[in-house]
Parts: sequence; C-alpha cells; structure tokens
Amino acid sequence: MNTAEIISCEPATGAEIWRGKACDVDDIVARARRAWPAWAAQPLSTRMELVRRFANEVRKESEKLATTIARETGKPMWEARAEVEQVVNKVEISIRAYAERTSQRKLDSALQGTMAVRHKPHGVLLVLGPYNYPAHLPNSHIVPALIAGNVVIFKPSEKAPASGELLARCFNRAGISAAVMQFAPGGPAEGQAFVAHDGIDGVLFTGSANTGITINRKLATRPDKLVALEMGGNNAMVVWDTPKLTDAAALIVQSAFATSGQRCTATRRLILKSTMYDAVIAEVKALADRIIVGAPFDEPAPFMGPVIDNAAADGLTESFLYLLSHGGRAIKHLVRLRQSLPFLSPAIIDTTAMKDRPDVELFGPILQVIRVEDFDEAIAEANNTRFGLAASLIGGTPQEYNKFWANARAGIVNWNRATVNPSHAAPVGGIGLSGNHRPTGYYAADYCAYPVASGEMEQPRAVIGVGLK
Ligand code: NAD
Repeated sequence: MNTAEIISCEPATGAEIWRGKACDVDDIVARARRAWPAWAAQPLSTRMELVRRFANEVRKESEKLATTIARETGKPMWEARAEVEQVVNKVEISIRAYAERTSQRKLDSALQGTMAVRHKPHGVLLVLGPYNYPAHLPNSHIVPALIAGNVVIFKPSEKAPASGELLARCFNRAGISAAVMQFAPGGPAEGQAFVAHDGIDGVLFTGSANTGITINRKLATRPDKLVALEMGGNNAMVVWDTPKLTDAAALIVQSAFATSGQRCTATRRLILKSTMYDAVIAEVKALADRIIVGAPFDEPAPFMGPVIDNAAADGLTESFLYLLSHGGRAIKHLVRLRQSLPFLSPAIIDTTAMKDRPDVELFGPILQVIRVEDFDEAIAEANNTRFGLAASLIGGTPQEYNKFWANARAGIVNWNRATVNPSHAAPVGGIGLSGNHRPTGYYAADYCAYPVASGEMEQPRAVIGVGLK
C-alpha cells in the first residue's frame, strides 16, 4: 500500500487546497487493464457521444473548475476561465481530428480484393500532466486517447491535484467510468513507477525537458511502448522593421509575461534589430511597468499572478542574479513583491554581452533581450538553442518572413503573432529538446491509435505462376 501523501497549496495565500493519499500504482494499472477490452469494443459513436457529454459536464462545472484552477495555480480568474473553455473546445476538435487523421480507408488492391487501412487503440495510456495548465493540457491527451479506444490513467502534477480531480470527475459523471478514465494522484515517484510498469502501453507526457528525457531514457529499451513528449522551450521573438511599436510591445509583453511566464510557448529571448532597440525597449518597459501582479480574484483583475511556489520564485531569482553577474544588464529588475509568497514582478534583462548564455528554460517572468545587426544574425540567434518549440517574427517583409519560416527551427513559427496561445486545431509541438516529433493539438489523434493495413478478400484466391516444377 502506498502511504505517501500529496498536499497542494494555493500560491497566492499559502493555504492548503488539497490533501490526499498518493495512488497505488499496481491497483490502478490492474483496473485499467481489466477495463480496456470493453471500452475498445464500444462503437466509436458511443465513445464520441460520451466525450460530448463530458464537455457538457465541464460546462456545468465551469465556474467551479475555473475557481479551483485559479486558486491552485495562482493564475488570474479570467485566465482560468479561458482554460476551461479550451477544455470544452478540445472535444469537437478531437472528434474532427480523429475522423480526418485516423479514419478508415479502403484502397483498390489486386485481384478485386481491397486494402483496408484502419486504426486500433494502444491499450492503457498514462497521461502525466504539468501544473501550469492542469486541466487543458492533460485533457489534450485524454480526450483523443479515449476517442481512439484507449483507457487512460491520469496522473496530474503533484502541484495541481485538485484541478485534476475535478476534471476527472467530469469524465466520470459523463458516464466514462472511473476505471476507463482513472484519476491517479501522485508525485514523481508514482510517475516513475507507472512509466516502468509492464501494464502501461504508452506515456503521454507534458512537462519539463529534464523529466521527458528521464522518461525517454527509461523506455529506451522498450520500443513496444509509445512515448509522446511535449516539453519546454527557450523561445525567441525577433522584432524587425515595423512602425507598429505599440502592437509589437503588446505582443512581446503578452508572450513573455502571460501566466507569469509559466507557459511552454512563452517568449524567453527577444531579439531586436539594433536600430529599433531603444524605441522597442522604451515601449515594452512602459507597458511592463503597468502590469498588475496580484492574486487570482483581485479587483481590478491582475495581468499576472504568483509563480507556482516559493521554490520556483527562489530559483528564478537565482537565475536572474546569475544573468546579472555574468554580463547581463537589468532593464527591469526581478522583484519579490510579497514576503514569503511567490509573487514576482516582470523582469527584462539585456544579455547581449554575455558570453555563454545558459540555454535553459527559465519558467517564469524573465525576458532576455539580445541586440543584433542583421537579419541572418537574428535567425541564427533565434536558433541558438537546443529547444525548438515556438518562434515569432514581428515586422519584416513577406520575403523576410519566408526566410524566417524556412530557417527557424521550431514546431510553431508565427508572423506578427504572439508565441503563446497556439491553436489546438493545429498541431502543437516542437523539435529538439521540446518534443519527440509527436505533436499534440490536432495531431494527438496520430499517436493515440496505430494504423493497421489489411489486404482483404471474401474467399481465398491464389495461384503460383512461376518457379514450380
Ligand atoms: P515536470 O516535468 O516537473 O512534471 C510533469 C509531470 O511529470 C508531473 O506530473 C510530475 O509528477 C511527473 N514527473 C516528474 N518526474 C517524473 C519522473 N521521473 N518520471 C515520471 N513522471 C515524472 O513539469 P512541470 O514543472 O509540472 O511543468 C512545467 C514544464 O512543462 C515546463 O518545462 C513547460 O515548458 C512544460 N510544458 C510543456 C508544454 C508543451 O506543450 N510543450 C505545455 C505546458 C508545459
């Protein structure tokens, strides 16, 4: 029996929001394996109907779910409401994606037979969720996995079990049993035990690159297990010739500081054309100075909440000091706004002069600025990372955007748009340390089922025309 306890606290107040026992991994896997055959045997139409009912359950619970997300992550209520909307929208997107990307097809084949292409579910899939989008991101794996006929074990982040539990309850209330969609609270230890378990057919992971690499390494000798990894980024935004400085500043601030910088697609590195530097920085700084940092339910509504906990705030403060003491020049300091709570101000630091900028994801409100002279240098700087999640060009000509698109090494490449808020009606994923070429979003349908090719005839019919005595 697992006796470990999981406790989740509100970042904005320090108050406890959830406490419970970590799950029993063997029990959960055994229950999932028993449930899988019956779920996979359901007609597709039934599974689709059930996920639509799930969307209705989420609609009914939307305020409660948004409030829980806001309390548990510290994000402003308006943003938590937007997350719940994304959970609902995911259902119709996934139904469309399943039909389009994994539908049945019949091809002509020799001798009047047919060649059918159909898709089968993998079996028992483990979904490991991150804390920053504790409902929407796990849900992005869960809904397509269920539609395809898999059963799901959902281990939420140990920092957001309350949101995860509410989400799971919506599935169960919709008629998707607690064996088909199991809520499995736990921390890294339970995550590791699930990953290593023989009864798991695949791992659908959203989280940090370090954890993703650990999972990949663990399963390196298990090619039979599906591994879909959505990891972090060290994303670049290049600002080139544009007269629209106010809009550019809004895109920069939104990309760098929304969710207090705790988004995988957040802009971490702002790459500026030298001649635009002063004007852009003045505009961005003026806007960042106006950002309200506050608790989720404050009035007027804050733009940014706290980061997830004091350990994260301490780590970010240390990282900022590291940049400062290794050649960085502060444009806007990182300030701890309330004692013993993880509220941080948005920070901007010029790291052009740094020799070895650490290529790590600083998962918080720290924006680095790098000054460059020409467009080739801007692209090279944007690609100067092992990650490859999102990159945006603001300004520039259509020809420059074409060049940027062709050369930017990222799974999301935008023009005059933020790096954040990727559409889940499109693939969402990255290359390098950001993912393993199994994007989620619309393309989650691809990894939730495997294609089976079948040559089929009603009667056997065959002759051997050559090489016989
Ligand atoms: P994390 O890697 O710390 O944890 C993610 C999940 O993995 C949690 O459920 C955790 O309990 C579990 N886990 C931790 N160690 C494990 C191990 N050794 N084996 C198995 N499971 C383990 O990530 P986080 O801090 O919760 O989330 C933030 C990170 O997620 C950031 O790096 C962010 O960029 C990334 N992220 C990526 C995307 C994307 O779509 N690419 C989206 C959101 C967040």
